[in-house]
Amino acid sequence: MDVIDRLRPALRSFEPYDPAFSPCRVNLSANENTHELPEEVRAAIDAALLDTPLNRYPDPMANALRDALAERHGVSREMVCVGNGGDEVLFNLLFAFGGPGRTVVTCPPDFAEYANFATMCECELCPVWRDPEDFSIDADELVEAARDAALVILTSPNNPTGDLLDRALVERLLDETDALVLVDEAYVEFAPEGASVIDLVAKRPRLMVLRTLSKAFGLAGLRVGYLVAHPSVVDALGAIRQIYSVDVVAQAVALAAIRERAAMAGVVADIVSERERLLAGLAEIPGVRAWPSAANFVLVRVPGAAEVRRRLRDEHSILVRDFSAAPGLGDCLRLSVGTREENDALLDALSVILREEA
Ligand SMILES: *Cc1c(COP(=O)(O)O)cnc(C)c1O
Repeated sequence: MDVIDRLRPALRSFEPYDPAFSPCRVNLSANENTHELPEEVRAAIDAALLDTPLNRYPDPMANALRDALAERHGVSREMVCVGNGGDEVLFNLLFAFGGPGRTVVTCPPDFAEYANFATMCECELCPVWRDPEDFSIDADELVEAARDAALVILTSPNNPTGDLLDRALVERLLDETDALVLVDEAYVEFAPEGASVIDLVAKRPRLMVLRTLSKAFGLAGLRVGYLVAHPSVVDALGAIRQIYSVDVVAQAVALAAIRERAAMAGVVADIVSERERLLAGLAEIPGVRAWPSAANFVLVRVPGAAEVRRRLRDEHSILVRDFSAAPGLGDCLRLSVGTREENDALLDALSVILREEA
């Protein structure tokens, strides 16, 4: 049976997401945190798991978790909305505030899910393309595009380019347009102190900040993300979200991890220093161009990127993400920052391959 004709037209171009993961010794393809959890965090999570009955539905309001997140950011519970990963929150934002005739502004190259979800929700997409050399955003062009927009989505640090958003640009967008502005800070824990704009949310009702436990907290498999926003935005999302999308296990484990967050600082600091070491190592390999990064990954351009990725996988059992077919990212690969051993393996393999390809 062919169901294409029966599908909602906006959904016909989509295919199941299958990253075709080949099991590899070193997986640096999905920006996961590959470090082991500190012992005290692991112990707190294990205790929370043991203490979580599965026969009852989860708290649909996730109040205990929202309280802990609110405390982390110095806001009230009413300003926090949780989701099944940041992805669910993103989808719900586009579902709630997008739709036919509503414009969503993005700054590609960026996270592909923005355009996917916007298309599924039948929004008009208005991409403001970044500079092809340094990936900077033209502020005037963005503000102009945002004038008629329902929603502007910005990413800081941006995936996959690694650069931070200018705080003044966020303020300018809020001053000069009437759009809702989402700043996706999935990776902000890896950025220098003060990079987040989350402190602006309390006085800027149209500003929303997305966070996740998938990256710095090392809990990608748990599926917990959240939005910090004005209470009326949180209410609107609360009314349309799948009520049980954050299950009892996810709520309990996320709560334990947030309470133990101080213990994650060492892991994050190590990834940041490994990122700089990786960048220094890449600078030594002829033919590699690497962009600076404030996240736990590095974007590089290498001659014959698709073939380099294939050889990394097949000859060295190292998996990285190939962006070479994405618009604006010709010959680009995204390398997640792993442990010291993983990064060394990657650097060694890359220098061997690039020497032979040259
Ligand atoms: C990883 C990521 C997210 C959220 O991921 P979840 O695992 O769904 O929480 C959001 N935005 C960007 C840019 C990301 O890279």
